Amino acid sequence: MEIDLHDYIATTPDFPEKGVMFRDINPLIGNGAAYRQAINQLIDFARPLHPDIIAGPEARGFVVGSPMAYQMGIGFVPARKYGKLPRKSVNAKYGLEYGHSELQMHVDAIQPGQRVFIVDDLLATGGTITATMNLVRQLGGIVVGTGFFIELEDLNGRENIMKIDNVPFKALLEY
Ligand code: 5GP
Repeated sequence: MEIDLHDYIATTPDFPEKGVMFRDINPLIGNGAAYRQAINQLIDFARPLHPDIIAGPEARGFVVGSPMAYQMGIGFVPARKYGKLPRKSVNAKYGLEYGHSELQMHVDAIQPGQRVFIVDDLLATGGTITATMNLVRQLGGIVVGTGFFIELEDLNGRENIMKIDNVPFKALLEY
C-alpha cells in the first residue's frame, strides 16, 4: 500500500530563523517503509533518463542520492561545502533561502559526456541545486534530470533550474 509521505514531514515555523517554515525530512528517512518508497519513486523517474552517475549537495542530498545510486548500480558524487575536498576542485558560489555558501567537486569526479541525475531533499530558491548543476557542467557532465523529496513552490526554484537548462524535474511533495 502506498504511504502518504506528507505524514512523514515535520513542519517547524521560524527555523533556522524567523519567517522560515522548515520542512524536516527526518521522520521520513527515519521510517524504513517511507524512506524506501521515496527513494524508489525517484529511481522510477530517474531510470528512463539513463544516468551514469547521481550527484547531490551536502548534506541531505547525500541521504537522497546515495541509496538511489546503490540501488541503480551507479556511482554517487557529493557536491561538498567549501574546504572539505582534499584534491583539485571546481567551485560554485550561491545564495540560500537563508545565508550563502559555496560548493565544490573534485575535477575528476565526473568525466566529460557523463549523464548526471542531480538530487537534493528539498528545492527552495534553487540556489543549491543550480550551483550543483553548475559544477557538473564545469566538468563536462550532462544534467539529465533533477529530483527532490520536496519542492517549496512559492520560491521559484523550478523556474531557476529551467533558466539554466530545461531538464526533466520531479518533486515527490509540494508545499
Ligand atoms: P535552495 O538553495 O533551493 O534555496 O534551498 C535548498 C537547500 O536548503 C537544500 O539543500 C535543503 O536541504 C536546504 N533547505 C532549505 N530550506 C529547507 C527546509 O525547509 N527543509 C529542509 N529539509 N531543507 C531546507
